[in-house]
Amino acid sequence: MAKKIALVTGATRGIGLETVRQLASHDIHVILAGRDAAKAEESAKKLRDEKLDVESIALDVTDEKSIATAVRSIEKRHGHLDILINNAGVLLDDQKKKPSEQSIETWRKTFDTNVFGLVETTVAFLPLIKKSSAGRIVNVSSGLGSITMHSDPSSAIYNYKIAAYDVSKSAVNAWTVHLAWELKDTAIKVNTIHPGSVKTDMNSAGSLDVEEGAKSSVELALIGNNGPNGSFSHLGQTLPW
Ligand code: NAP
Repeated sequence: MAKKIALVTGATRGIGLETVRQLASHDIHVILAGRDAAKAEESAKKLRDEKLDVESIALDVTDEKSIATAVRSIEKRHGHLDILINNAGVLLDDQKKKPSEQSIETWRKTFDTNVFGLVETTVAFLPLIKKSSAGRIVNVSSGLGSITMHSDPSSAIYNYKIAAYDVSKSAVNAWTVHLAWELKDTAIKVNTIHPGSVKTDMNSAGSLDVEEGAKSSVELALIGNNGPNGSFSHLGQTLPW
């Protein structure tokens, strides 16, 4: 049987890089995407040295031309895409500031990558994912995107308000529900996950290692035809919207 083809965005480091490693360990051909082609290739080579089936591609999710070039290249090489993991993300808020004090530039740049980039990348790859017999889209969100938890004074995140980042992840969750509705009668499943609080460049205070942090993305990438569509979870546990 032909190997599945997966694409992971923002995979040069952190959770994305580990997601590529784990997917490739499941006998999947993984395309490691990074906005810097040389950096992406350097990361992919390290995984090939571990005997994993990984190739690299340049993909900046905020650049329309970069997305279009990546779609054409993957179409030419593989003809379809089975798994898309929208992992690329930024956290740009000044965490010393209150929600109303974040600059509008921070809001715009955050949404450009975390929301508009994710939507544009997904829509551009959708024709290739529709050619898969069982397409899977995983959006890497955050527990910080949960409006229910942010509204609950007893929740662990109640006093942890990183406004532009949090709201961008709430938008990713809402988009996931909308796309899942659109695709409900197809072979494609789209879900959103929280990786956990993971120690990476983005989160130096994270408590989980990247091995644990990549597991939720990989789990939802590998669900069968009876798996969820339009869910929000962390390590198999459903999270509140
Ligand atoms: P990270 O170490 O900062 O890595 C972020 C990745 O995103 C990098 O590879 C970066 O590429 C890439 N990226 C940023 N802007 C991009 C763009 N315009 N186009 C393509 N790639 C871009 O962060 P991480 O902790 O691994 O986070 C991965 C995902 O998990 C993010 O969506 C994040 O919001 C989410 N998340 C993380 C945590 C956590 O505790 N770490 C918790 C919840 C959710 P460069 O190398 O080129 O900069």
